[in-house]
Amino acid sequence: MKRRGLLQGILASGLAAALPARAQKTLPADTKAVEALQRGWRELLAPGVAVPAPDSRLDLTEAEWRKRLSKMAYYVLREEGTEAAGTSALNNEPRAGIFACAGCGLPLFTSAMKYESHTGWPSFFTTIPGVFGTKTDYLLLLPRTEYHCVRCGGHHGHVFDDGPRPTGKRWCNNGVALKFLPKDAQA
Ligand SMILES: [Zn+2]
Repeated sequence: MKRRGLLQGILASGLAAALPARAQKTLPADTKAVEALQRGWRELLAPGVAVPAPDSRLDLTEAEWRKRLSKMAYYVLREEGTEAAGTSALNNEPRAGIFACAGCGLPLFTSAMKYESHTGWPSFFTTIPGVFGTKTDYLLLLPRTEYHCVRCGGHHGHVFDDGPRPTGKRWCNNGVALKFLPKDAQA
């Protein structure tokens, strides 16, 4: 009976360990907080900095893109490449500001949307609204959701469902595809 009691104890503790995961479901209050971050993204834009709108489509030829971008940025943005983990200085960017597309300057994320995912790529739990299109790719055989800038079509990364609260999303972005615009240009 003692052994059986122990087994029951183990089963019970396993059940208890499963409960916090269920409790991590997105709550309405969290959704409101995320919407506020999305609506208020311009608060993190430096005064006087002009940025393009998502619908001002930028279409360049392959030659023009090659001229405009570094070799690595071209590989990621135009050829859906992936930079090596841990290579971007933006992983550890501590300042407040905007992460814009390195291809066309469209604001994509704010520093308030960023978190440390320990993956070696800049990671965000949400985005500025309306700036990305998505498609499913099978480059690693398993389906993944690829996302790209709606203004220039540049590939940025993949979005996964293993992110933190409040959204549960991890927008895993190549640092070389981003350009950081600090809120305080003097900082
Ligand atoms: Zn772009």
